Amino acid sequence: MNRLNLILWVLLSFSLVSSKCQSTKNAASKQITETPKKKTSMDTTTVIKSEEEWKKVLSDEEYNVLREAGTERPFTGKYTDLKADGNYYCKACGNLLFTSETKYHSGCGWPAFYDNAGNTAVENRIDNSYGMSRVEVVCKKCKSHLGHVFEDGPRDKTGLRYCINSISLDFKEDSTNDAKVK
Ligand SMILES: [Zn+2]
Repeated sequence: MNRLNLILWVLLSFSLVSSKCQSTKNAASKQITETPKKKTSMDTTTVIKSEEEWKKVLSDEEYNVLREAGTERPFTGKYTDLKADGNYYCKACGNLLFTSETKYHSGCGWPAFYDNAGNTAVENRIDNSYGMSRVEVVCKKCKSHLGHVFEDGPRDKTGLRYCINSISLDFKEDSTNDAKVK
């Protein structure tokens, strides 16, 4: 039944289109150039996944921090004291977030950076949870939680301290000259 209906519909559509083309040839050719394009998102780089999909690609700990804005315990993250040269990418989507050039020892117990890797790296959000007013830092591409940014960073640099969970990051050492956003 359904298939028959579909065939009939297709035939009907074709006959309508072809008759229209014949009767208004000029109008039809003009129409082609004016056909509205499909609506596409301005930011094609945004990564959108359902929470179920994130759960499949992240470990429980990663999911808790990245998608539920959890915080790893201080001095436990694997990148807190790392000094190697390289880039730090988003653990969830691979977006370049920070570089070792702006990493410094803050003593806060989490990896600290005084700047991000450029205007496609991170996004700031006001976070009033736990009775505190803080600025949350999320990945600009996939909106996963990374940490917070404070204004007690090195004064001779930006004055900012990006306090980031190690578990939100994926470090890749500088072997090749990886394209830096800046
Ligand atoms: Zn991301």
